[in-house]
Amino acid sequence: MSKIKIAELFYSIQGEGRYMGVPSVFLRTFGCNFKCAGFGMPKGELSTEVEAVAARIGEFKKYEELPLVSTGCDSYASWDPRFKDLSPMLTTDAIVDRIMEILPYNRWEEEHLVITGGEPLLGWQRAYPDLLSHPKMAGLKEITFETNGSQPLDTDFKTWIHREWHHNGSIDMGRGRNSITFSVSAKLSCSGEERSEAIRPDIVCEYEEFGYTYLKFVVSTEDDVEEAIETADIYRAEGFTGPVYLMPVGGVESVYTLNNRRVAELAMKNGLRYSDRLQVPLFKNEWGT
Ligand code: SF4
Repeated sequence: MSKIKIAELFYSIQGEGRYMGVPSVFLRTFGCNFKCAGFGMPKGELSTEVEAVAARIGEFKKYEELPLVSTGCDSYASWDPRFKDLSPMLTTDAIVDRIMEILPYNRWEEEHLVITGGEPLLGWQRAYPDLLSHPKMAGLKEITFETNGSQPLDTDFKTWIHREWHHNGSIDMGRGRNSITFSVSAKLSCSGEERSEAIRPDIVCEYEEFGYTYLKFVVSTEDDVEEAIETADIYRAEGFTGPVYLMPVGGVESVYTLNNRRVAELAMKNGLRYSDRLQVPLFKNEWGT
């Protein structure tokens, strides 16, 4: 039986992207290939906020006791090795049992599953067929993978998607049964990540063969939006056809409220979609939301 290291597993409302407002189970896997320490920082600077948290690591017995940060990656504990002991390695059976416990009717009805991270398309891809083929997961109709778009799909996982989730060999792009979505948060320079590693249209175009795929750029300034538009054009030039969203920076309310309206206006001005972060105004982005 496969195992997955799980940072968080909780039930909430999807606050971002295509499924905003939809009741969802969130499975947050451990591990990421990026750090995104540039978020919320002046251009060219990297956040060191998490260093202060790591220095107090002994004080925290549970993931949800960790403080939120206002700069850098807002889910730092889902990949920073210093916090790895707060994320248990669970069998797929144990994960499914926990999912059944937190679903309102202890079975799938209309809820959606979000597999997020960290970066959920790292090596855990090999465990997803085992997890998603479990008999208790049979009622699940819609899955989103929230990815940074830098990881190619594993051959066995692709074979499994085609066999188990596509109707008559075609992808269900709608919101009916068996719909797979790739929500790609490609990282712009404000993340602090290397562009050559973060912007991988070759990889994202392949996602489109396996599910409904959209780009979601995290931005705060007009410069970020300009970069997002230029970057989206690079994806388009490689054949990407999906929609493009702008989403405001801000894992905490003080940062989010500074730029959410401006980002919405910039999205309108440029004919792009706006994604909120409903978990911030609704739940203050606390762990488990
Ligand atoms: S890709 Fe996502 S999870 Fe990974 S460091 Fe960046 S924001 Fe955090």
